[in-house]
Amino acid sequence: MSVKIISRATWGAKSWNGTPNYVALSSRTEFFVHYDGANHITATGNAVPQAIDRQHQAQGWAGIGYNFAVDQAGNVFEGRGWTGQGAHCPGHNVSGIGVQIAIGGDQEPSDKALAACRALYDEACAKAGRALAKKGHKDGYATLCPGAKLYAWVQAGMPAKGYEAPSGGGSSSGGSASWDGKSFPGASAFQLGKSHPAVTKLGERLVVHGYGRFYKVGPGPTFGEADKNATMAFQAAQGWTGSDADGYPGSETWKRLMAAPKSTAPKSTIVALNSAVKPGATHAQVKELQQLLLKAGYGPIKGAVTSYYGAETQKAVARFHNKNPKLKSAGKSYDPAIGKQGFAELQKEAGRK
Ligand SMILES: [Zn+2]
Repeated sequence: MSVKIISRATWGAKSWNGTPNYVALSSRTEFFVHYDGANHITATGNAVPQAIDRQHQAQGWAGIGYNFAVDQAGNVFEGRGWTGQGAHCPGHNVSGIGVQIAIGGDQEPSDKALAACRALYDEACAKAGRALAKKGHKDGYATLCPGAKLYAWVQAGMPAKGYEAPSGGGSSSGGSASWDGKSFPGASAFQLGKSHPAVTKLGERLVVHGYGRFYKVGPGPTFGEADKNATMAFQAAQGWTGSDADGYPGSETWKRLMAAPKSTAPKSTIVALNSAVKPGATHAQVKELQQLLLKAGYGPIKGAVTSYYGAETQKAVARFHNKNPKLKSAGKSYDPAIGKQGFAELQKEAGRK
């Protein structure tokens, strides 16, 4: 279950006055709760983030400085979002996600507002891959914010009526119960910080396809940056761009990953020499040796082909060695015995790869 967030475009944010810096989710370690200030806030809906946006731009910021704002009706408005650097608590804007609950003074926060903020907290933990420290603005800066009531709530551990925290450290299963273990599980299985057995399968297939370098530890069930980056590289290698190469697997990515990897080099057909193949011996591979000698132009071999490594075969091998003196045994000017390296070279001369 993810929190329903009202996008900046939907609530009518002004354009950023300079784009906020990007912050990796893995950099987040704390979660700050704010209030609006001394005055009670009666408005709910889009007017709430619009007012904050105007005020923050007026003081020279890029726009609304909180990562999210929550109104008393429980609506969640996107501010800087999950990965934008906030402007809500000096010294903590990279490490901390800041959420304003739109109340002021001694105003009582609604159950809906608290539940929405708590849901944001749980999702933030899931995305960051750790339990974020629960803080009020005053824990990071000398201020009255977030007011006595919200501060007491933060200190109590952010309990929320009518809201059930997801189990398993804030990650949700994403409907894994119905997954058959092979087919594309749906896009909802791949959300940063969330676990699904298909994520392990995804990682294993990425490794098979040669993208193991993205994993510092092996693939696991929680979709993380390594999975996303490996997926993105795989998608780019398909010649895809833009949203087709965003690091989130769709059904076509899944299909191609489940297929056997395309081999980059044709499989070698060079075979090893059996150690029993030597002058005077009878061995099945001698026929192959003779055929190769003939094909590569070292014939004739009278009586060929047989499994006997006789004088005619030895003469042909000696001719091969005269053309490839480096492959002769040390110190021999006439070398009728094929060696391992010589046999490999002969196969190449005969057209094998
Ligand atoms: Zn504050």
